[in-house]
Amino acid sequence: MDRAMLNEIAETIAALETEGLFKRERIITTPQGATIGLPGGKRVLNFCSNNYLGLASDPEVADAAKRAIDRWGYGLSSVRFICGTQEIHKELERAVTRFLGTEDTILYAACFDANGGVFEPLLGSDDAIVSDELNHASIIDGVRLCKAQRFRYAHSDMADLETKLTEAAAARRRIVCTDGVFSMDGDIARLAEICDLADAHKAIVMVDDCHATGYLGARGRGTAELCGVEGRVDIVTTTFGKALGGASGGCTSGRREIIEMLRQRSRPYLFSNTLAPAIAGATLRAIELVGERPELRERVMRNARRFKGAMKSAGFDIVAGETAIVPVMLYDERRAVEMADRLLDEGIYVIGFAYPVVPKGRARIRVQLSAAHTDGDIDAAADAFRRVGRDLGVVD
Ligand SMILES: *Cc1c(COP(=O)(O)O)cnc(C)c1O
Repeated sequence: MDRAMLNEIAETIAALETEGLFKRERIITTPQGATIGLPGGKRVLNFCSNNYLGLASDPEVADAAKRAIDRWGYGLSSVRFICGTQEIHKELERAVTRFLGTEDTILYAACFDANGGVFEPLLGSDDAIVSDELNHASIIDGVRLCKAQRFRYAHSDMADLETKLTEAAAARRRIVCTDGVFSMDGDIARLAEICDLADAHKAIVMVDDCHATGYLGARGRGTAELCGVEGRVDIVTTTFGKALGGASGGCTSGRREIIEMLRQRSRPYLFSNTLAPAIAGATLRAIELVGERPELRERVMRNARRFKGAMKSAGFDIVAGETAIVPVMLYDERRAVEMADRLLDEGIYVIGFAYPVVPKGRARIRVQLSAAHTDGDIDAAADAFRRVGRDLGVVD
């Protein structure tokens, strides 16, 4: 045992506190929803979940999970290729494939695992990964786990992407990877241009669509649908832990040969337990509901527009965008945390984001809208922002 090491760690943690970077978990006492309960009985309006369609506590989704437990049991106690594949897992893979318009799909315990296991089976030291600098941490980790050469292009900068693809011209294989929606700014990848550049440079395209699957695009199929490049994105990774019911689980979907290779070699698939049947059953229902209730998609986008309009007229610095993520920029770390705390006192549950989740000096409150919010909820949030913002001198 090394006491010095523990003391050093404690000092690092203490420094996080003084810099305003220490993260505290807040406990909620109710299911997920537009309104949630806090210890002590306080009810607050929730604007920080990824529950875009409001399906996280939908009775039909919960019933589907219960039925799946009754039919298929609780857990499999196995990885997929030993004895962890039931018909419901194959059914979900087929449903996701149909939904995304791809050729095949492989399930993972989380999208973090999908991204962690997608590069290494496909790319070696002769190959190149060209990655947007703001890609999600799980993509960065997946890239680290593989021996391919790494090229990072400036965020959504197509000229820089072209430069990096040119630099990677000598590689055997090239893959361009990007988030579909960037979670901290809520902006959308320029997929049409990315696909054109990839074609011109003989690269394949991978999109992580976690913050889009289920609610963006005419039928909720994500950024490929929204950008008109369905069939041109070779690999999609996504989560069942956001719009599609919000429990957990994820997948990689795309070209048949690629998905088959992942079944053979992807380590988080081979060495981690199969998705619980309850999640498979509930996700199947959630995907059906995306088709059956188009009004949920319209509602979440309408809510986002209403909130942005109110915040702009109140004078807040918000990042413009076309998604249900609305970053309210405060820049200063402590101010972001203080503002979020004050908003919670006002009954508005939001979280201040600081380094390392966003760059230093770019702290913000990320507001996320849901189809579950009413107009009254949105207006209450904007009013509270205005009151607290004035108090803290953020707006006049
Ligand atoms: C949420 C998220 C993930 C992780 O998904 P999980 O299923 O929760 O592991 C990966 N990539 C992006 C872009 C995300 O937003």
